[in-house]
Amino acid sequence: LGAAARLYTEEDPLVILGSSSLKPAVTNSSSAWLLQFYSSWCGHCVQFSGTWKSLALDVKDWQRAISVAVLDCAQEENFDVCKEYGIKFYPTFKYFRAHAAATDRGTIHRGADRQIQSVRQLMVDILQNHTRLDWPDHCPPLEPYSAVELLPLLGQRSDHYTAVITEEPGSYVGREVILDLLQFSGVEVKRALSTDLPLLDALKITTFPSIYLLQPNGTHAHMHVEKRLRFFFSSLLKTLPGVQRRVKSHGSPSSAGQMGALADGQSTEPWRDFSRSTVYSADLESALHYLLRVELATHNSLEGEELKVFKDFVTLVSKLYPGRGSVVKLMETLSDWLLSLPLQRIPYQAVLDLVDNKMRISGVFLGAELRWVGCQGSRAGLRGYPCSLWTLFHVLSVQHEATPTALENTGLESEAAPVLQVMRRYIRTFFGCEQCGRHFEQAASLSVDAVRDGGQQVLWLWNQHNMVNERLAGSLSDDPLFPKAAWPSPVLCASCHEEKDGVHVWNQDNVLRFLRRHYGVSNLSPKYTL
Ligand code: FAD
Repeated sequence: LGAAARLYTEEDPLVILGSSSLKPAVTNSSSAWLLQFYSSWCGHCVQFSGTWKSLALDVKDWQRAISVAVLDCAQEENFDVCKEYGIKFYPTFKYFRAHAAATDRGTIHRGADRQIQSVRQLMVDILQNHTRLDWPDHCPPLEPYSAVELLPLLGQRSDHYTAVITEEPGSYVGREVILDLLQFSGVEVKRALSTDLPLLDALKITTFPSIYLLQPNGTHAHMHVEKRLRFFFSSLLKTLPGVQRRVKSHGSPSSAGQMGALADGQSTEPWRDFSRSTVYSADLESALHYLLRVELATHNSLEGEELKVFKDFVTLVSKLYPGRGSVVKLMETLSDWLLSLPLQRIPYQAVLDLVDNKMRISGVFLGAELRWVGCQGSRAGLRGYPCSLWTLFHVLSVQHEATPTALENTGLESEAAPVLQVMRRYIRTFFGCEQCGRHFEQAASLSVDAVRDGGQQVLWLWNQHNMVNERLAGSLSDDPLFPKAAWPSPVLCASCHEEKDGVHVWNQDNVLRFLRRHYGVSNLSPKYTL
């Protein structure tokens, strides 16, 4: 069946079932299941796969209550199981209640409308159709609470926040936010109805849906939300101080372990206060310091492709780095030196000598120690270098869009997306986390060539970074103080977020405006530089 058979891959945020895994998965499961039986030769299934993946992504955090899955009936080994489950047409949607019996063949769902929003609401309905006896183990209550239950909580201390979403009776937002927060600890979400007059009176609620927040210390107040949308409510609650994503038991320990090694060296440092809406030169300089003195040091000498990649990287930074002049000077010197050498092979020690000597003799300066600020981790092994490397390339991409002629006569000017191409080559050749490099190269090989101008380059990197965030959320390398999430959050940029047909979408024009400002020269703070 070739490529067509792979409508869904392990990278998609859903479960791929087959003849031997279907029954064990859905029988007596702690969660409910929504399963699409499809056929990889059915054109409609092919067209629909994008929607199904988007749905799965949209409800990824609901998995412990209800899982989204697919099964390909066109694969020979699945013929029997599709027959056993009575599948005659493709796609067929079936759901299985939690704790289903082994004889349960699921219930067919025949919704004419297969929009993400209506399937998502169907999932809420499926959950609510459970009884007390078979309620999915990890699904919190979805019924509304009443004033009698909620008002006594006011003023009480607790070890977590309680968020009360008050909404019109037909609204799904409250239940969706409850499920969005399922993977997070430190906050409990409850819903109440706009028809509960004693509650509205007591809390002075006049608009719906709205959030009322009970803090752990007993204080309580309305929460300001820029837009009354599910994504805004969920994002705000996920970023409350102390609210944490539960770490996945699986994840990718190998790359997380590698990242840990890369980010080390920051454990005994005092905490540096910083703002999440600022970019710090100290992080960029620490990135260069680590790159030149640690990452490169694992290569005894540079030759061939490695040498070329390193030269291009140094040239790029020397032309586009918007931070301190002394750093630019050092990179220029390094670049001139590399270009003037007739050698095919340069010992690493020579690079190091030049960096150190230049600094000593002429005051050309690059901080000689790691000083993470916006990239501080809550403990050693988290954030640090990889965080600063992302930041550096975002800054360079924005700077390239602002000064497109800066790369003239460097050999890089003919590339449509020079920052991405140099980053891609650098990551592939030198970045210590091998698995990260493989993932990045895979993504780049698929779409970097389509980037036509500076704005698209900035957005490509932003989008790719968000895909990595999404993949890593809840993994071992996720710092609980800085949980990975779609970025920028509504707090940083409300106008970047919109909803279309009930699904979160980005306003890319506003994202680009935001990125230009956030990673632009005027938002670069020299605080904490040496
Ligand atoms: P980071 O993701 O490092 O982000 C740093 C800062 O950038 C954030 O604090 C935020 O201010 C800003 N930011 C966040 N998202 C965006 C965005 N979309 N656009 C612009 N700015 C943003 N780790 C793995 O375990 N597996 C991998 O496969 C992997 N691949 C990587 C590939 C590359 C090219 C790089 C540079 C790193 C990779 N990492 C990988 C490391 C991982 O992405 C993080 O850098 C690391 O876990 C530290 O995370 P952090 O919380 O500091 O945030």
